[in-house]
Amino acid sequence: MRCPFCRHADSRVVDSREVDEGQAIRRRRSCSECGRRFTTSETMVLAVVKRSGVTEQFSRDKVVLGVRRACQGRPVDDDALQQLAQRVEESIRAAGVAEIPSHEVGLAILGPLRELDTVAYLRFASVYRSFSSIEDFEKEISDLRQAIADTADLAGSGNGADDA
Ligand SMILES: [Zn+2]
Repeated sequence: MRCPFCRHADSRVVDSREVDEGQAIRRRRSCSECGRRFTTSETMVLAVVKRSGVTEQFSRDKVVLGVRRACQGRPVDDDALQQLAQRVEESIRAAGVAEIPSHEVGLAILGPLRELDTVAYLRFASVYRSFSSIEDFEKEISDLRQAIADTADLAGSGNGADDA
């Protein structure tokens, strides 16, 4: 990175710190020619690899768009969609990979969407997993029921009324 003052090509890092919860690094640099200081910032670019092999930068807006379609007519507002997209991005970034296949973005959406709205989840899952038969839906719904029951068990643990 060239010095913005004298265009010298070499600089020394005098300080570096993580910002945005470790998703970016800011470095304070000192030009080895003129001695002036400047700041650079590095952010990890998260690339989504589409089925065609084309890569594009991960976008929360695209997540929101994809999920919004599944949420039509459901009581899900824009704030909830934004939060979901943020959770999706965080979970993908937490995996620490620079590139992710687009179907894994879909996979990362399923969990938070299921918590948000089960009908929207089923719609999204039916497209994402290419459901082709009623049996696909039946299996998904029975898994969903099981997951909801498990969640209820966790929430209600301690009452000792079940699992006899
Ligand atoms: Zn300089």
